[in-house]
Amino acid sequence: MKYTERIIAEVQKKDAHHPNFIQAVTEVLESIDSAVEAHPEYKEASLLERLVEPERIVMFRVPWIDDKGKIQVNRGFRVQFNSALGPYKGGLRFHPSVSLDTVKFLAFEQTFKNSLTTLPMGGGKGGSDFNPKGKSDNEVMRFCQSFMTELSRHIGADTDVPAGDIGVGAREIGYLFGQYKRISNQFTGVLTGKGLDYGGSLARTEATGYGAVYILQSLLQDNDLDLAGKTVIVSGSGNVALYMIQKLQQLGAKPITASDSDGGVYDKDGIDFELLQEIKEVKRGRVSDYAQKRPSAQYYEGKGVWSVKADIAMPGATQNELDLDDAKTLVANGIKALVEVSNMPLSLEAIKYVQEQGILYLPSKAANAGGVATSGLEMSQNSLRLGWSFEEVDLKLKHIMQSIYHDSKQAAELAGQPGNFLIGANIAGFNKVAHAMMAQGAV
Ligand code: NDP
Repeated sequence: MKYTERIIAEVQKKDAHHPNFIQAVTEVLESIDSAVEAHPEYKEASLLERLVEPERIVMFRVPWIDDKGKIQVNRGFRVQFNSALGPYKGGLRFHPSVSLDTVKFLAFEQTFKNSLTTLPMGGGKGGSDFNPKGKSDNEVMRFCQSFMTELSRHIGADTDVPAGDIGVGAREIGYLFGQYKRISNQFTGVLTGKGLDYGGSLARTEATGYGAVYILQSLLQDNDLDLAGKTVIVSGSGNVALYMIQKLQQLGAKPITASDSDGGVYDKDGIDFELLQEIKEVKRGRVSDYAQKRPSAQYYEGKGVWSVKADIAMPGATQNELDLDDAKTLVANGIKALVEVSNMPLSLEAIKYVQEQGILYLPSKAANAGGVATSGLEMSQNSLRLGWSFEEVDLKLKHIMQSIYHDSKQAAELAGQPGNFLIGANIAGFNKVAHAMMAQGAV
């Protein structure tokens, strides 16, 4: 049995109750097999056994008082997965579906993604099963303060620097930062995604969506295709999906869908970015509200957007949102490229099918790394006590996405799998983490 196969089998046994984590480990280990086999010293040093075991997991009670004066209790998590390359870095997710399995798989993936950015950041992720939807600002604030009261013991600008993710945007980061500052009596870059008035970086809000479109551009150019004029199916309507839509339009493409957990909209004239932005960011509304205001849009309750015909698909909502049947529909509808923008949006079967069908495919680890890369740039600016212009950050982001594209492409070629960006991104991310772990001894 190969070393990678043995470790996958061990994880399946040890973490049997964490299916998302098993899925992420399987995806990564299967694809780095050639890189691992080329280094027998990794097996000698039990490198993979260490790689699949988080350095630390913190799980805690988050009691908070709702507007009726009743005490509510949620569960908080922080997984500090790997610090070989730098302080733990990764977002916080507030969503009822969050479990230890969720944050563990995300922190594992984050380790390789952060490595790909070439910035000095380890991998971590956290969150809570708290649902900010339908809560008042005061309730969200009291929850964030309680969450940070415990989390603050475990993080720090040189230890672990959380950021936003699903359900954690500018409002939540503000409350979390305020409470950290109050408890620690320090104004440090302990969180990224901060407001511009208190240490945030220009272009951080846009970074994940913009970055995904920049790497899509590299992929298309490399294949003699033009982004201008292409129709694009986007899922989600949060931070990532919104700015993906904006950048696609700026570059002449036509995003025609958006969705949330209640349903999807198809707008034959192309999504009206300003309208969707106002509904989602200002009014905290639903995509159904968008359909009501746009005569050219149709709303599909409860349905995904994958049956809409288009040139390119960019899932940007959540994990496992696109299964094998959806992938078959996309291929039958003549899709040319699929870029994963949410974390692990495709099932393993869907990825395999898309690749077998010769569709141009980029995995999320490469495609959504622009967010954390710009968080890294926010950390640099905080350390320098300087703020760069939007154009400067955006240009750095563009260069990072281009280098992720080229590093992943090159790693795939060296592995004898040209064009396989799943293998390329995983190997390019893994190599650096593995070298650093070997250099740092049995820790
Ligand atoms: P947001 O909370 O801003 O938006 C998430 C979107 O996805 C919303 O439209 C939400 O709809 C929808 N959604 C969430 N959960 C589900 C579900 N179970 N089923 C269907 N739809 C769902 O999050 P982001 O845009 O920040 O994140 C989107 C994805 O991108 C996530 O996978 C995240 O991990 C990843 N990502 C984000 C980065 C960032 O910088 N923000 C960086 C890298 C990756 P609803 O409002 O109905 O819940």
